[in-house]
This record gives sequence, structure tokens and C-alpha cells, in this order.
Amino acid sequence: MINQPILTIVVPCYNEEEVFQATYKQLREVMLHLITECHIHPESKILFVDDGSKDSTWQLIETVYKQDDLINGLKLSRNFGHQRALLAGLEKANTYSDCIISIDADLQDDIDVIKEFVLKYLEGYDIVYGVRESRKTDSFFKRTTAIGFYRIMEKLGLPLIYNHADYRLLSKRAVETLLQFKEVNLFLRGIVPLVGFKSTKVFYDRKERLAGESKYPFKKMISFAFDGLTSFSVKPIRFITILGFLSAVVSVIAGIYVFIEKLLSHPVSGWASIMISLWFIGGLLLMSIGLIGEYIGKIYEEVKQRPRYIIDQSLLHEIHTQQDLE
Ligand code: UDP
Ligand code: MG
Repeated sequence: MINQPILTIVVPCYNEEEVFQATYKQLREVMLHLITECHIHPESKILFVDDGSKDSTWQLIETVYKQDDLINGLKLSRNFGHQRALLAGLEKANTYSDCIISIDADLQDDIDVIKEFVLKYLEGYDIVYGVRESRKTDSFFKRTTAIGFYRIMEKLGLPLIYNHADYRLLSKRAVETLLQFKEVNLFLRGIVPLVGFKSTKVFYDRKERLAGESKYPFKKMISFAFDGLTSFSVKPIRFITILGFLSAVVSVIAGIYVFIEKLLSHPVSGWASIMISLWFIGGLLLMSIGLIGEYIGKIYEEVKQRPRYIIDQSLLHEIHTQQDLE
């Protein structure tokens, strides 16, 4: 085990000026506590990643960087989304850290368990998942949609950690392994369990946002869930194949039935049934093509191999380790 590991807390920020000062102060306090109490290296850092904010978030990061050696900053060239901002932070922090904790800027996730994360790491765990014990503060809607989402993912055989968002600790080798997953459609909470290694969970209560609004409105949430689904499983495609097969079988049976009716000279009355099945099959077909299109779109995005994020500026304090001093 590394003596005095260097820890970085990565915090993606998108238009978070309202919460920034409070978040900075609270995380700073946690960090100082870890340094004095938990054998964390004094050169540990809090890395704020500005994901192309349109408000004054980056100016705030610059200001604290200048005043405080504990703070590093990274500015992306535009808004890349939470997952990629987090990836940028992980990749940058991994160049100098032994372990990394990721947390949202609004501190909805209880920072008191950061210490537990670190203790687990010191015990030898590579991945520590923060798991929400209760979601009392989330709206009924968010709670039920989240439950539905995990259920579907479970049915598809994906090893998602129930009620775990992007609040976790990763060791250096876990991050290095994670960085080998080159997909452009990032869904970190689906990839992290695939990394393996020794992992554990730490439970906490999720709180209200400190201030400001959720950056995940309904539309974004749906697209995030859909991305998660289609990036990790081709089972939905198989499902429509089966559906297509079943409807073909049904139509053959219906055909035979109509034929027999005809032979018995009971003319098939009404075209309503025909129209209904026509619409039904038409709908199924369109849906199927759409779904297959989703996958082709994914392949298209992946083969282009575009950069997953672009860094505009990095503000990194130099790290002085014991070896430097010797
Ligand atoms: N975030 C980001 N880029 C975005 C959207 C969000 O970096 O395009 C950050 C945001 O600043 C926050 C975290 O991702 O630190 C989670 O966002 P939020 O709290 O709005 O999501 P929720 O908790 O409502 O799911
Ligand atoms: Mg939040």
C-alpha cells in the first residue's frame, strides 16, 4: 500500500456559480481533515472541471486556484456533458494522483462519507461505490423513473449498481483500466463495474441540491437512460426480431383463418380488422427501424473516433512529493 496516497476529488461543474463557494469551502474542509487524520498526502487536490459554463463558474475556479494550493482547475472548450467532464477530470487527475473521488458540484451526495471512501481505499479496495440509501429528496417522478430504469437494465443483464450515481472512489489502476474503454457514448456507471478489481459500497442519504437547478431535465434524463441502454446491450434488437417473428406467425394464422372462412363461403366482413393490423404492423416496423437506426447511429459516432472532450485551459499546481525534497 502506498504511504500517504495523493487523492484528487474531481468535481464537474456546469453553471454552478450559485453553489460554488459553499462547495469549495466544504470540500476544502473535508480535504484538510483527510490530510491531518487519514494519512492522505498534503499535496492532494480538489480538481474543478468547468464543462463550458455560461456563467461565472470558471472565473470563480480561477480565483480559488490562485489563492489556494489545494485547488486545481480544468476548463473544457465547450459543454461536453457531465460524463465527459468527469472523464476529463479523471484523466487529468490520474497523471498525478494515487486515487480519485468523483462528486457532483451541488453536494447532493453526503461528503461525510468521503472519509469512509478513503478508509476503504487504504484497506485495499480499488473501487468504492457511493450508494444512496434513501432518495427522499428526489421527486416521486425521478424516483419511480429511476427504479424503472434499473429494473430494465437488470433484465438486460447489465451489472449496474443499484442507486449508485457518479459518486465513487477509484484507485489509479482502476482509472487506468477505465481509460482503456474508448467508447464515445460514455455511461460511466455501466463501465465501472466492468473494470472489476476489489470493490465495495458505502451507503449514504441523498440531500437536496445546495442551490440552483438540476442540470438534468426530463429530456436529458430520458436520453441518458436510452444511451445507457443502447450502449450496453443489443437485447432490444433481439426483442424486435422476436416481435417481428411473432407477428409474422400471427398473420399466417390469421391468413389461414380468412382462407377457411372464404372456403366456407362466409365472406370476411369489414375491413376494420385489416386496417388495424396494417397500422399495428406498420407501427412495429417503424419502431424497429428506429431502434436499429439508434444502433447504427451509435456505430457511426464510435467509428468517427472524435475526441471525447477538448481542454481549453488547465490550472494545475505542481506536486511536491517526498522524493522531490530528498
Ligand atoms: N454537469 C456537467 N455538465 C453538464 C450537466 C451537468 O458537468 O452538461 C454537472 C453538474 O454541474 C453537476 C453534475 O454534473 O456537478 C450533476 O448534475 P445535476 O446535479 O444537475 O444532476 P442531478 O443531480 O439533478 O441528476
Ligand atoms: Mg445534483
